[in-house]
Amino acid sequence: MARCLEKSNAHFKKAVARLPLGVSSNFRYWGDEKTVYVKRGEGARVYDLDDNVYVDYRLGYGPVILGHRHPEVDEAARSGQEVGTVFALGTEREVVVADLIHDLMPGAELVRFSNSGTEAVMAALRLARAATGKDGYVTFEGSYHGLFDAVMWRIDLENYKDTSREPELTTYGRGVPGLLKGLFWQVPYNDANRLEDVLKQNGDKIAAVLIEPILGNCCGIPSTPEFLRAVRELCTKHNVLMIVDEVKTGFRVAKGGAQELYGVQADIFTVAKAMGNGYPIAAVCGRESIMRNFGRGVAHGGTYTAQAMSLAAAEKTLTLLRDTTVLADIATYGRRMQDGMTRVLQRRGIPHSFAGHPSMGGLFFNAKAPTNYRDWKNSDYSFYDALAANVIDRGVMCEPDSREPWFICAAHDESCLADTLKAFEAAVDATLDEARHGGAHAKMWNATQGDMGEKRAAIAAGTAAE
Ligand code: PMP
Repeated sequence: MARCLEKSNAHFKKAVARLPLGVSSNFRYWGDEKTVYVKRGEGARVYDLDDNVYVDYRLGYGPVILGHRHPEVDEAARSGQEVGTVFALGTEREVVVADLIHDLMPGAELVRFSNSGTEAVMAALRLARAATGKDGYVTFEGSYHGLFDAVMWRIDLENYKDTSREPELTTYGRGVPGLLKGLFWQVPYNDANRLEDVLKQNGDKIAAVLIEPILGNCCGIPSTPEFLRAVRELCTKHNVLMIVDEVKTGFRVAKGGAQELYGVQADIFTVAKAMGNGYPIAAVCGRESIMRNFGRGVAHGGTYTAQAMSLAAAEKTLTLLRDTTVLADIATYGRRMQDGMTRVLQRRGIPHSFAGHPSMGGLFFNAKAPTNYRDWKNSDYSFYDALAANVIDRGVMCEPDSREPWFICAAHDESCLADTLKAFEAAVDATLDEARHGGAHAKMWNATQGDMGEKRAAIAAGTAAE
């Protein structure tokens, strides 16, 4: 029951003549005949050019925490516009929003605004280097920190066969200078011993350990509380700064982000997505003594930082998140959705688990939830791939890549839940049926991926192009 994508396909032909892959981010390209173009969003639903309607669990990769076209946030953004746009000067509202961030995340003793997660993490890393006088850094397998060269490295799990050896470290796509490899160490997630070894041997070269407290681009795999505490202790012990990347978890998994959830305090942390409900804004935050380096020769700026509309949208979004039970409600919805999916899968004897926080949970086809990226390889991710195609065909917009979690927003309501579970059940049956009969739809989806051939290789599998 492939849905009609006639208008999206026609638009693709037009778009690809002017835009590489017909889109503005590599991962919005899903194949020449599968790429979806949006007409509009409304609450938790998205309408495409062909008027197919989807319950949206991608939410722009997480930012749209209150729902699309949220009237109060949009009104606030419009009032922000009355101030103007950018001035190459500061405005009063910057302090208001920085105070709100500090209210919710007390570790934000000082705040610097950025436009995107990438920019905020880039600034955080530079700040850590300046504060410590060291250049090296540590990242973790399965993490994603944006599209700047220093962090565009991942282990090549797709081609990892001989598990007696360590997987190959490779870049997210071409164009990332190999020279950078000498600057960092990538450690398996949730493995404090490996981190300790690296810090013991190289602590004098390492400025920072950069960590996502929940792997928001890798099935939502969470740190164990012991691991995150160990990272904190090891950083302190080895005079290395702990940068917690809360671009996805901030203002989502708890009002105070993952740091509140785990009771662990970073030296520097980044926030972005949920703080603006889709308007482009991010921040690097942290301890005053470190952050003051921005006034002591550490470069940071940008034409659009603290742009008036985004700032006003952030003020409204953060106020709503602070003053309501929205985040608890989102988590409850996530739990109920997962319970419903479990009922469907259990009835059919399909082993599965969910990873991470219910507001951004990963669905994983193995009875044991993953604890690091290498575990993803042990799941039946091709079943996920085929299932996701069927789910999307039935009006539920989940991520086609099994490594991306399902994001929940405040606008997901009872009707969304009912539609989702109905579509999910039908999609599971269709996928099982295809598997039994040689896989009409699964094959079709795989063929589409296959058709991408060269392009797919150029994109380089992974989450490189959010
Ligand atoms: N850090 C994390 C944890 C992210 O999830 C992302 C984006 N998915 C980024 C950084 C980069 O953010 P942006 O896409 O806004 O540049």
